[in-house]
Amino acid sequence: MEVGYAAWMKLDLDRTLVTRAQIDARIGELAGDLDRALHGVTDRGESVAMVAVMTGALVFAADLIRRLPLKMSLHLVSASSYPGPATESVGEPVVGWLGSSGGPSDLAGRHVLVVDDILDSGRTLRAVTRMVKEAEPASVQTVVLLDKAERRAVEFEADHVGFAIPDEFVVGYGLDYDGYYRNVPEICTLRREVIDGGSAGGGA
Ligand code: 5GP
Ligand code: MG
Repeated sequence: MEVGYAAWMKLDLDRTLVTRAQIDARIGELAGDLDRALHGVTDRGESVAMVAVMTGALVFAADLIRRLPLKMSLHLVSASSYPGPATESVGEPVVGWLGSSGGPSDLAGRHVLVVDDILDSGRTLRAVTRMVKEAEPASVQTVVLLDKAERRAVEFEADHVGFAIPDEFVVGYGLDYDGYYRNVPEICTLRREVIDGGSAGGGA
């Protein structure tokens, strides 16, 4: 697949770790796995509630839902753990339901699929799944596009993983640095100078 990079992107980005073609192919496989894992649910006349962790999972969730032929509703949560321009999360993330698109009362007895961009220390998904479980859903599964397994600080594994990647800070396909680069079409690393010279802002 041909991927176009704007001039400013080429200046700031270092290497591509996962290409668009790889992402597209893997999302097809993940959708197949999830469809198999959850198919009995829709066969029984029950439905799935997807919970996407904003803002990083926006692009992944948008692509994934279009490949999932399940009856589902979409719910958004916010999670934030980076203090301004940083590449490491600190402490426990603050998580909460976003907008009026659901929340706890909608999840009771439902089959929940939590979607996030990347599993790093594990704190974000641990906090989000804890919050989801308070709503007493029938089941909870988690899917992440990327997994930096060697960075895990708490005991947490996702049920479905797109790609295992090395311990490097990545941007693109929804992931930001200092609020930018979410629209980069692939998973890339940033040039060292960009991170060292970081300015104000924050990401999640
Ligand atoms: P955790 O709570 O597992 O440490 O981190 C999860 C969150 O931190 C992700 O949802 C994501 O927002 C952010 N994060 C972790 N690693 C990276 C990374 O390499 N790049 C970016 N842009 N965000 C990351
Ligand atoms: Mg996030």
